[in-house]
Amino acid sequence: MTKQEIMEVFQLPRAEYEAVIRPRAFQMLKSMKRGISPVAMLGYSNICKNQCLYCGMRAGNAGLPRYRFNEEEIIGSVQAAYDMGLRRLFLISGEDPKYPFETLLRVIEKAKQLGFMRVSLGAGEFSKTQYKELKAAGLDEYVMKFEMSHKETFERLNPSTTFEKRNQAIGWIQEAGLDLGSGNIVDYPGQTLEELADDILLMQELSISWAPNIPYMPAAGTPLAVQENGTPSPRGSIDKMQREISLVRLLLPQCDITAQQPGEDIRGGLSDQQGNAEAVRSGANVLFVDLLPAAQAGNFHVIDHRVIAGLEHVKEIAKMTGLEVI
Ligand code: SF4
Repeated sequence: MTKQEIMEVFQLPRAEYEAVIRPRAFQMLKSMKRGISPVAMLGYSNICKNQCLYCGMRAGNAGLPRYRFNEEEIIGSVQAAYDMGLRRLFLISGEDPKYPFETLLRVIEKAKQLGFMRVSLGAGEFSKTQYKELKAAGLDEYVMKFEMSHKETFERLNPSTTFEKRNQAIGWIQEAGLDLGSGNIVDYPGQTLEELADDILLMQELSISWAPNIPYMPAAGTPLAVQENGTPSPRGSIDKMQREISLVRLLLPQCDITAQQPGEDIRGGLSDQQGNAEAVRSGANVLFVDLLPAAQAGNFHVIDHRVIAGLEHVKEIAKMTGLEVI
């Protein structure tokens, strides 16, 4: 698809998108992925040195109680996920430079020894050598979002790094032989359709293995939570998010796409039944089973309303969409 054709999909009347594009993407999902993949997700540290302007876990959010799981605690959660029958694991944290890298290597080795088919990690920017070490330990996929393909906006919203450094890290991940989970933020204020189309084309160019994309949702208390006129910042469009999901499914049929999407009622967070089911019908296939215990769950506060969901939730979404849990 050309950039123009992608932009045209965003401009179609909703009814036409629902009648033509969406069923095509859902059909592609059914033929390529066969169903919904539950992924055990553990936010093992909420400590972050960065200051992304929209994120509730940014270093500047002094009111957030911070935590770090030690090796034993992570392995206990990983074992529990395995015992639950889950075979995909996603370890995620803020960019926490003091977290012992050796611990991550041992945890990945342990997860692979246990029998996890796919282990993914998202913990910020590492060195070229470290990505190679993660690959050698058995890591399958590294998640590093490019956030937006336009340098100026990226550096304005993510002031703790540079566009160049982020792209260099993405290159190192791929050079190390790791699959790349990456993608964008949908519908931040001022984002044009042209920029959105550029983001989608970049996902295709990078041959990403997973698109963990969500709409723009600045957390309360962050610099972007309130607009200049004092009113709360609007969240990104769910309609645009669904159209992006369909386009990514059609352009990258094998790609995992996160179905953990908000619905009309924001209080349902990313585990909203309607939001998740609509995302699946648009072509998305990945849902999380959250491994965090209740005491820490609310503090993994990238966005507001982070509602915890388990395997039963995944089964319910599968039932609602007529798919299998695979
Ligand atoms: S988005 Fe990630 S890197 Fe940025 S502040 Fe939040 S946790 Fe840190």
